[in-house]
Amino acid sequence: MRRFDCHTHSRHSDGTLSPREVVKRAEASRLELLILTDHDTIAGLEEAAAAATAAKIHFSLGIEINSNYPEGQVHFLGYGIRAQDPSFLAALARLRGRRRERADAILRRLRELGLPLSPEELPSSPDLPLGRPHVADLMRRKGIVRTRSEAFEKYLSRGRPGFAEPLGPTPEEAIALIRDAGGFPSLAHPKTAKTALKHLSEWVRAGLEGVEAYYAAFSEEERKHWAGVAAEFNLLSTGGSDFHGPGTGRDRPLGVEVPESVFDRFSERLARCG
Ligand code: AMP
Ligand code: ZN
Ligand code: FE
Ligand code: FE
Repeated sequence: MRRFDCHTHSRHSDGTLSPREVVKRAEASRLELLILTDHDTIAGLEEAAAAATAAKIHFSLGIEINSNYPEGQVHFLGYGIRAQDPSFLAALARLRGRRRERADAILRRLRELGLPLSPEELPSSPDLPLGRPHVADLMRRKGIVRTRSEAFEKYLSRGRPGFAEPLGPTPEEAIALIRDAGGFPSLAHPKTAKTALKHLSEWVRAGLEGVEAYYAAFSEEERKHWAGVAAEFNLLSTGGSDFHGPGTGRDRPLGVEVPESVFDRFSERLARCG
């Protein structure tokens, strides 16, 4: 077995640790490969890459893009991307703009419930991809909830009164964005896309190359199931923790164990990217 983590977040998106601190966790978990996959931004790249070099950990940049389709949401991880590709960077900036519009819509709903929350109280940097976790953190600061999870359960999850539809790209657009930047996409935490299996062949036709079968929160049975799906569609199996850091409800230790063949196939594909 080998140990890597191809799904992690820093405070440049909705995590709570700096890229340097994420690398420290990677060191503590003795990872062979760490990939930072912040939502809609590559702002953590330089710091993470420098810290990983110092710690002698193999590091690569990734991205996570949340997309919407009529039946729900599906997240794509992108690997091996050319981080400095101008049209890629411009597309990410547009996605961050739409995230801010959505955050404003969420706050409007919460105000209608009598909660005094204004957009000025959210982080103001246009570089930060705002999400529901930032709204949750604001609610926590105001004493409305005690944890991010409580905010999701009471207000922010689909079906709750503060929910507003995400304004992300379609799956095909998300896949194209990653491919056009020289990268290859993998379907993140596949279970959350309720009808993923129904659409998988369409997404493969659009350029999907992997499935995150080794998602840390998955049971052994779920890993087996999704690794089987990956094999059936001739896709890579990928894996990661979806680490977000202390205070997020998503701070399990970094890394997942994967069979040698999974690690090697993924590493070889990554090495083929410019
Ligand atoms: P958004 O990007 O605004 O749709 O929010 C999705 C993000 O919220 C995910 O990437 C997770 O980081 C986080 N999230 C989702 N559900 C929960 C939860 N129950 N508790 C804490 N964080 C969550
Ligand atoms: Zn996140
Ligand atoms: Fe995700
Ligand atoms: Fe994630």
